Amino acid sequence: MKKKKIWVEITTLAIPTLSDSEQMFKDIAKFIKEALGIETPWHISQFSGAISWKLQHLSETPVETLEMAYRIGKETGLKYVYTGNVPGMPSEDTFCPKCNALVIDRTGYRISRRDKQGKCPKCGENLNLILK
Ligand SMILES: [Zn+2]
Repeated sequence: MKKKKIWVEITTLAIPTLSDSEQMFKDIAKFIKEALGIETPWHISQFSGAISWKLQHLSETPVETLEMAYRIGKETGLKYVYTGNVPGMPSEDTFCPKCNALVIDRTGYRISRRDKQGKCPKCGENLNLILK
C-alpha cells in the first residue's frame, strides 16, 4: 500500500499477556521506521476485556503499558505516535515533531486543530496531514 501511495497508519491493540511486551513494541516501532517511514502514524490502543468476545478474562491494558509503548515509538524516531481508548491522555494529541508545539488537541472524539493548513503554527513544519 505504501508503494502505491495509499495512506497507511498502524494500530496495535495492546492486549495484556498477548501483545504488550516491551520487545514487541520495539520490534513494531523498528518495522514502522524501516519499512514504512517515520512519518507513518502509530496508534497504540488500550484493550478492554469488558467489550471482548473471547478474552473477557483479561484485564484492561494498564495506562503505564501504553505510556511505555508511546515512549518506545518516540525514542525509535517515529514522528506521530498516539495512545488510544483512554480519553484525556496527552498522547492522544498531535505535537509538532520539530518544536513539540501542540498542533491538534484531541479528547476522545473532540478535535481542536491549531495547525495552519497542515503546518505547525509555531515553526512552520509540514505536519504531513491529509487536508480537505
Ligand atoms: Zn513546530
